[in-house]
Order: sequence, then C-alpha cells, then structure tokens
Amino acid sequence: MSVISIINQKGGCGKTTTSINLAATLAFKEKRVLLIDFDPQGHSTLGLGITEDKFSYSIYQVLTEGVPIDTALIPVNEKLTLLPSDIRLAALEQKLAGTDGRENVLKNKLEEIKGDYDFMIIDCPPHLGLLSVNALMASDRLIVPVEPSRYGLDGIKKLNQTISSLCNKVGHNIKAKYLISLFDIDSDFAHNFVKELKDKLGSDLFDTQIHRTSVVRESTHLGVSVVDHDQHSISFVDFMSLAHEVILWKNEDLIKQILADGKLEPQKTPIGICFMHKAGAAGSVQISGDFNNWDPERTPLSQINGDGLWYTILPLDEGIHKYQYVVDGEFKTDPENPNVETSLFGASHSVLAV
Ligand code: ADP
Ligand code: MG
Repeated sequence: MSVISIINQKGGCGKTTTSINLAATLAFKEKRVLLIDFDPQGHSTLGLGITEDKFSYSIYQVLTEGVPIDTALIPVNEKLTLLPSDIRLAALEQKLAGTDGRENVLKNKLEEIKGDYDFMIIDCPPHLGLLSVNALMASDRLIVPVEPSRYGLDGIKKLNQTISSLCNKVGHNIKAKYLISLFDIDSDFAHNFVKELKDKLGSDLFDTQIHRTSVVRESTHLGVSVVDHDQHSISFVDFMSLAHEVILWKNEDLIKQILADGKLEPQKTPIGICFMHKAGAAGSVQISGDFNNWDPERTPLSQINGDGLWYTILPLDEGIHKYQYVVDGEFKTDPENPNVETSLFGASHSVLAV
C-alpha cells in the first residue's frame, strides 16, 4: 500500500484535478483506491458529484468526534472510495490546538483501513498548515503538480526547498516527484520550461504531462472523472499514463532488481512484461503494439540513469502480442526478439507470446 499526497501551496495548479483523475485511473487499472479529500473547500468531493446533501459525516467528524471511518466512506465505484470533506474541516487546526500528537491524527485513522487499499491519494489544501503536515505524516510519497506558466525555474527551486524542509520536519523518508499540469501544447514557453525542468530534475519529474484541455474543464463541471467523461480523450490518455508511472514508482525496488539482471529481451515479472531497449543517445523511446491500439504516444519508455537504456513494464493479457519500438519517431522491431512477422502491408512486427 502506498499513501500519496498531492501537494503544492499554490491554489489552482491542478492538485484536485490530479487527485480525482489519478485515483480514477488507478481504479480503472483494477487497483483499490481511497481518495481522501483533505481540503475544507471539498473540491475532490464535489468533483466526484458528491454534493453536501449526500453525506452526513466528513473526514472532520472522523478525526475529531470519534465517528468510525467506515461510516464516512462513500463508494464511488467497485474499486474507488471517497473520504469526503467540507468546510467543517477548516476548524481542525483550532480544535486540535495544543493537543499531543495532533500531527498524526490522519495517519492513525488511515492505519485502521490500510489493508483494504492499494493506494490512498490525499488531495491537500493550498497552504502548509496542520492539515498538510498531517497529510505528509501519513504519506510515503508526494506528487507536486506545477503549472508551467506560473513558475520560472527559480520558483521551482523555492518550492523544492519548501517541500524538502517539510519532509525533513516529518522525520520519515518521503519520495517526491513533480508533475507538469495545465500544459499548453501550443506554448513555446511551456515546452522550454518542461525541457529545462527535465534537465534539472531527471527522474524526479514524471514523463507524463497533463495537457490543459476542455475535457478536464467539462468533467470538473459535470462532477465526474475523465474516466467517466471521455475515454477517447487525450486527458484520459494523460491520466492513464500518469497512473502507469505511479504504479512503476510504487514498485521501484522490485524494478531495480529486474533491471539489475540486465536481460534485454522481454521478460515476465510479477507486475507485467518488462520491455527494454538500448537506444544510444535517443531523445524518446516509445512502444506501439496491439495492447495500446498501436498508439506509441500512450506508452513512453523511461530511461535508466541516462545510459541509453530504456524500459517499461506492461501488464499484458495472456496470448500473442505484436509490437514495435519507436525511437525518435522511427518504427523498428525489437533486436532482442528473434520472432518477427511481416504484416499484409509490409511492416515488420516483433511477436511475443505471453
Ligand atoms: P488546485 O486543486 O491546485 O487548486 P484544481 O485542480 O482545482 O487546482 O484546478 C484549478 C482549475 O483549473 C479548475 O477549475 C480545473 O477545472 C482547472 N484545470 C485543472 N487542470 C486542468 C486541465 N488539465 N485542463 C483544463 N483545466 C484544468
Ligand atoms: Mg484543490
């Protein structure tokens, strides 16, 4: 189980949007997910169509009035559950003032139900008071969404310092990754910002970028996730890709072991098939196959330590799969896989039996 806080002291940078849609896409990938709305504004709650007349107990009553946590949970679908919030949560800081262990009230509550979930996602408020400290105490990972237009690299440096000093304060090891949210595809500034940030942060920046789209705006208004709003949209692809990266992140120790073997041909692992490709100084490597509708944009590979080796792990169904690598836009078969088939149209595909 992993507890991930979505945090940034700025408002409007995509925390709630990331929380709702990451939770929904992880659930779509069959993970058991609890979304914890930890902002008195209750935007994650509203964003899933749960208006205040639909619940009696919010997270506030669970943390301060002894209401059992199960009583407050709201099932959204088979895999996704919400712990709702509303304006009452704003009183938490005052209510707990001066009490011992006030930084740990959330962590202690979540302990009671941690066996029921694979992921808990905490949507944090836009300031770094007692609520955010509680979220950090309960978390093993952080995702920091940043909107390119609002930040220079200096801003990121300051943000980074704030996040590191908060993490030091909580006294346990928290891993943090940055996420480009509200990415404007037509903006040269945004493209340059992403490039500079990648150079600076390396693997601490998700490869996925969340595009600014009308689909996200509409789904916020409709009170549904992009999974329920439009599965043919770029936003669905963005959040599925983020969920994929988050699953790899959670399994990073296992992945280190797998990659340490140095086996380049596709291999079965407990979390899917591991694909590795050596691509020298390539700028991007993707994979295209029947499993992603032959759309390489959906499945970028990640580079291992900048040494020209790229990988991804995909949970493929049993059966025969065909694929190609796409290196800087050029399609090629897998040099490590001797099974190649030529299609009716003359294209060569690597073939893999799972
Ligand atoms: P925060 O929780 O950090 O305050 P939100 O996720 O609520 O930020 O986003 C702020 C506003 O921007 C919301 O109205 C939301 O609908 C909009 N927004 C967020 N992400 C996107 C996106 N990728 N595309 C379009 N609009 C977005
Ligand atoms: Mg919010």
